[in-house]
Amino acid sequence: MTTETFDVGILRAQFPILDRTLHGYPMAYLDSAATAQKPRRVIEATRAFYETSNANINRGAYKLCQEATEAYEGARATVAAHLNAAHPNEIVFVRGTTEAMNLLAHSLGQGLGPGDEILLTHMEHHANIVPWQLVAERIGVTIRVVPVTEDGRLNLEAYRNMLGPRTRIVSVTHVSNALGTVNPVCEIARDARSAGAIVVVDGAQAAPHLKVDVQALGADFYAFSGHKTYGPTGIGAFYGQRALLEELPPYQSGGDMIARVSFEKTTFKAAPQRFEAGTPNIAGAVGLGEALRFLAETGMDAISAHECELAELARKKLAVVPGVRFYGTAPERAGIVSFTVQGVHPHDLATILDRRGVAIRAGHHCCQPLWERFGIPATARASFGLYNTHQEVEALVEGVSYARELFT
Ligand code: PLP
Repeated sequence: MTTETFDVGILRAQFPILDRTLHGYPMAYLDSAATAQKPRRVIEATRAFYETSNANINRGAYKLCQEATEAYEGARATVAAHLNAAHPNEIVFVRGTTEAMNLLAHSLGQGLGPGDEILLTHMEHHANIVPWQLVAERIGVTIRVVPVTEDGRLNLEAYRNMLGPRTRIVSVTHVSNALGTVNPVCEIARDARSAGAIVVVDGAQAAPHLKVDVQALGADFYAFSGHKTYGPTGIGAFYGQRALLEELPPYQSGGDMIARVSFEKTTFKAAPQRFEAGTPNIAGAVGLGEALRFLAETGMDAISAHECELAELARKKLAVVPGVRFYGTAPERAGIVSFTVQGVHPHDLATILDRRGVAIRAGHHCCQPLWERFGIPATARASFGLYNTHQEVEALVEGVSYARELFT
């Protein structure tokens, strides 16, 4: 589909859950940054796997096992295509972005020593802070934090000044889940590489909404979650540039990741199997593959354009409501609108909207350091997916106006 042929009505019809009501109102689901709804074909692909091809992968000579292995490896190839990785073996299946970050922090951490530095940014999700913090505390590594400007951009000048010979890892979000800012990962990665650092990208909010090309971005590692890309929960993946992935020590251990085990010494398989200990979420991977094919057929550029248009419409209309203040006003933004309404606590706002059928999120969005920097505890956040409509933006704006009137 292109922007001209993008038909939100046809797309919506593929999502059974969108037919439901909330408190007697048509549901306006504006929380896709938390998790996206699932098209019927993803639900069916997962069910069909269990109904027709379920077996454990890699271990059997019989046909069903081969079919299951092919379905799982086929999904790996689809993930590689979604990220434009050079080879499917650069893709490791995990539970989601959080597990990817824990794996990378643990395994990359083994190559670090006291005095080394990890650069994070002030707009990171807790999933891209805490795993590094645990490693840093254990090893004596210093974490440094790239500041965020008032309009929600990274301060790139400060970033460049922070890079140095001690910088070993730069880990940055591609799109901020709290501000909607799209970070210039290409530039960030180029500067990091010239300082000799490894670049890790949290793509949780980018993979569902933007065309991602890990080779063009110059990312060494790039992680995302299946459930935010219209796939099942409990499955996600990360890309690792081949040479680095081959050198990376394992994270979890056990079956399937070993070459040979004896009580004296165990050797490991090559990547990606070295990072996939135990029976993985096979049906989840199959569902994720289907979701990514759905995105490719719909067209990532058309999806981005649609979501950005809705976010801009929401901003324009919300800006007229007295007391609304936006967080994240940088020029490069995705379909996320974070805001507060003077006199209305974000949690009250979300409850009032819920009663009118509008599902938004209120809170710190797992970015407590960011909100501390802005001096607030929470915001309301509307986040758009490919199935959202202008009417849903209207419902949001009417609900916010109503809440504001109630409280003043
Ligand atoms: N990173 C970002 C930017 C996110 O928005 C999220 C989830 O909201 C995560 C990481 C964590 O993703 P998950 O809970 O799927 O592991």
